[in-house]
Amino acid sequence: MSDCLFCKIVKGEIPSQKVYEDETVLAFKDIKPSAKEHYLFISKTHTKNVNEMSKNEPQSIVEVHNAIREFTQKEGLEETGFRVVTNVNKHSGQIVFHTHFHVLGGEQLRGFGA
Ligand code: AMP
Ligand code: ZN
Repeated sequence: MSDCLFCKIVKGEIPSQKVYEDETVLAFKDIKPSAKEHYLFISKTHTKNVNEMSKNEPQSIVEVHNAIREFTQKEGLEETGFRVVTNVNKHSGQIVFHTHFHVLGGEQLRGFGA
């Protein structure tokens, strides 16, 4: 989508600190980190949220989570632990409507049972 912030990042029109890229997936550092390590994993194909992704682009879910697995294993995050979060619509606080999976780690995380 031409007016989508993360599509612009995919096209290189807006800079990002890339940490992972393959043919279908891109990951970059969150500009306002909520944990010591905070990355955003996205499909290069635009969908607005995970529900639209699972309906229209289900293979993207597998591709993004394969990328998360590869990255977290390589970077040692799997060993120390990490959290994957995706927001949908108003009550979640979603502000960017290009499906993204927050990967948080690098320190002890609070909430959700921690
Ligand atoms: P949300 O839509 O609430 O799940 O979160 C969107 C996330 O995108 C927030 O954590 C922002 O800090 C992050 N963000 C917004 N703009 C950029 C950008 N240009 N580069 C990296 N991260 C961004
Ligand atoms: Zn987009």
